[in-house]
Amino acid sequence: MGALFTKRNITIALIIAVFGIGVLAFINLNKKAPAPPPVVPVETTSKPQLTTIGKSVEGRNIEAYTYGEGENYLLFVGGIHGGYEWNSVLLAYKFMDYLEANPDVIPKNLKITIIPSANPDGIYRVTGKDGRFAMSNVSTSQPVLEAGRFNKNKVDLNRNFACKWQPKSTWRNEIVSAGTKAFSEPEAAAIRDLVLKQKPVGAVFWHSQANAVYTSECETGVLPTTLKMVNIYAGASGYQEVKSFNAYEITGDAEGWLASINVPTITVELKTHETIEWEKNLAGTKALLSYFGQEIKK
Ligand SMILES: [Zn+2]
Repeated sequence: MGALFTKRNITIALIIAVFGIGVLAFINLNKKAPAPPPVVPVETTSKPQLTTIGKSVEGRNIEAYTYGEGENYLLFVGGIHGGYEWNSVLLAYKFMDYLEANPDVIPKNLKITIIPSANPDGIYRVTGKDGRFAMSNVSTSQPVLEAGRFNKNKVDLNRNFACKWQPKSTWRNEIVSAGTKAFSEPEAAAIRDLVLKQKPVGAVFWHSQANAVYTSECETGVLPTTLKMVNIYAGASGYQEVKSFNAYEITGDAEGWLASINVPTITVELKTHETIEWEKNLAGTKALLSYFGQEIKK
């Protein structure tokens, strides 16, 4: 009786199979779907708000990146001395990466604004790059590096602010141009406008290479919070704490101008022109964040 696989039997078997699958599908559809696993929001990164606060003499954007949701601003500035202190720019970018990956370190009452590259023309002269660059882009020629300190108008931007401003100022034992008047340079004016808008509770300017943390003042002495900031940053980072800058007379510095409008401001000088000393500066900045997180509660 080899008729098991007759055409008729196969057809019947197919009908049964199709019917069976249909029934199973119907049962399945009517079953209550199991609840999906609860969605746990994992906030691992925090994108900053980017603002273009001005343009350099050569037309490069001067950018400010803001992190956090609090009411009070804390400001960090790298690269006011351009390519001569290019490591301060890399440190600022590194700090931005850190905040993006670790948004929880930002206290609830704070916004952190970072201007990573305050003198982008000076950076371009030394690195040939706009925006972020690698160490391999940096020129090793000393005259190129030193020229990179100034903006396109050959002005030392950290002598162009309205604190005891004079047309000529000094850098070590050299005479440098401080611009045609306070804030004559668009880069300095961009920082001024941002500071006046944000009125930060504190500010940090990264430079190199004096290996120390300095207070700021203009004509009315060092603000108490500035002394506290120097003490906190120096203590956490291990840099030497310097309560006043006496090495040579400086006019028109940004830090002094911020002090003159009651913004406590410190200068952090890295140890060399080539290193960012990340662990030290991370410890210093985190200590400042926790200080301002606790001190200013609104
Ligand atoms: Zn400097």
